[in-house]
Amino acid sequence: MPEIQIDGLPVFAPGWVWLAGAGPGDPGLLTLHAVNALKQADVVVYDALVSEDILSLVKPEAELIYAGKRGGKPSWNQQDISDKLIELAGQGKRVLRLKGGDPFVFGRGGEEAEALVAKDIPFRLIPGISAGIGGLGYAGIPATHREVNHAVTFVTGHLAGKQQAELLDWDAIAKASPVIVIYMAMSRLAVISDLLIKAGRAADEALAIVTHATTPKQRVVVGKLGKAADLATQHGLEPPSIIVIGKVVELSDTLSWFAPQGGAEDAD
Ligand code: SAH
Repeated sequence: MPEIQIDGLPVFAPGWVWLAGAGPGDPGLLTLHAVNALKQADVVVYDALVSEDILSLVKPEAELIYAGKRGGKPSWNQQDISDKLIELAGQGKRVLRLKGGDPFVFGRGGEEAEALVAKDIPFRLIPGISAGIGGLGYAGIPATHREVNHAVTFVTGHLAGKQQAELLDWDAIAKASPVIVIYMAMSRLAVISDLLIKAGRAADEALAIVTHATTPKQRVVVGKLGKAADLATQHGLEPPSIIVIGKVVELSDTLSWFAPQGGAEDAD
């Protein structure tokens, strides 16, 4: 890969932590700031959703530290990760904390930044393209469309139906948001579609499941809200996935452009 030289990109000073988003998967969706960080980092602490293609951009002597889940062993807890970043920065290293998507969108980047601030460790935040935006784009689904919606809501589904009191006001979301984009929802699909239908959304409203978005393994399955869980099972879909509910999903037929495996699969 030819070297990218862009004037004005910052120098990574020793003892700093740069908290960067790697985007949803396709290395082409890295920002120039993220590439600039990869080229200079002494150590990269990365999560499960960061691909090898992206990690291969580091300098040869850089150390790579994996902080995600591995082979059934629990992932590091948040404290372990923050402690590690503080320790490495204290050793005078250029520490790149690399996360999937955007660090400040369902990425706990805020907590890590707070931990750094508490120890007076200087940091920079490098936003990334979040899966709920970039992943939709690669599925041919605009997050907003002038004819369809003037609002979009991004939510996490991972605790849906697991708490005595829902952490989200699903009724309010169902009423106020014509388009709902849900992260971490794969195992909660049945509960989420029930909650939304009870709150007044039509069971035959369009829903898309986009898995491994922006990568060669991307799959897009379009169906109905009322059949969300069946769709995932029938098509053998696996996380990571983004769920989109709303009329914008209907545009994917026309706008689908990225075809790693032959394009969108339509369900009944
Ligand atoms: N900070 C990340 C989100 C981390 S939470 C971001 O801004 O994108 C992890 C969730 O992100 C996954 O459970 C899934 O819902 C979503 N996700 C991340 N990468 C994805 C991808 N390539 N395709 C589909 N969903 C993805």
